Amino acid sequence: MYDVIVIGAGPAGGSAALFTSKAGKKTLVIDSNQSVTKRAWLDNHYGVDGISGPDLIEVGKKQAGKFGAEFVEDVVTDIRSENGKHTVVTESGKTFETAHVILATGMSVQLAEKIGLKIVPGTEPRIKSIIEVDQQGKTNIAGIWAAGTVAGVSMHTIITAGDGAKVAINLISELNGARYVDHDVLKA
Ligand SMILES: Cc1cc2nc3c(=O)[nH]c(=O)nc-3n(C[C@H](O)[C@H](O)[C@H](O)COP(=O)(O)OP(=O)(O)OC[C@H]3O[C@@H](n4cnc5c(N)ncnc54)[C@H](O)[C@@H]3O)c2cc1C
Repeated sequence: MYDVIVIGAGPAGGSAALFTSKAGKKTLVIDSNQSVTKRAWLDNHYGVDGISGPDLIEVGKKQAGKFGAEFVEDVVTDIRSENGKHTVVTESGKTFETAHVILATGMSVQLAEKIGLKIVPGTEPRIKSIIEVDQQGKTNIAGIWAAGTVAGVSMHTIITAGDGAKVAINLISELNGARYVDHDVLKA
């Protein structure tokens, strides 16, 4: 049983998994490898002086993997929620159990619609529909959260990665029962 399953390994999902795994939460990332970020060249990602979208995604996966996040390449086709537990079902017939799910599926609301999440019109350019979330990143199904483009934030890597981190910190804080901070100190 995982603490968190993140669906999507783009900037939003990768960043969320980095924070949850680094906080010691048992984290699985399921991704179908269709990120639009793979077509991007990034000159406006603060702190990184020019990087390709594919490299940004790979570095993010490596960072989260370093802290124990597991990665599976597959398509999630359904999530069955019952008694605070979620069973995530994939196209290849696998099932995984978890206490929390973070949807970071980019421009796709297909899975969200399938499982009954509240969908509203998008407000960003070229984004037709998004998942309705509260300020924490919570959806209308308890234990299911959403982050990044699919949650309606501006479609820029620094913002979607930031939103993934924000939602992860809110989830970790809920699991820990206290506000969570993840600071490392530069060694003297
Ligand atoms: C051509 C182009 C150029 C761009 N240039 C820039 C730029 O210069 N600067 C900038 O800041 N941003 C740029 N962007 C935007 C940026 O790349 C992303 O849009 C943004 O960061 C999206 O991040 P995300 O994590 O929300 O979604 P994505 O990166 O799209 O990731 C979503 C992931 O979810 C997976 N997924 C979806 N549904 C499922 C499912 N059911 N099961 C399993 N996995 C699933 C997908 O395969 C994908 O990997 C550009 C985008 C494009 C298309």
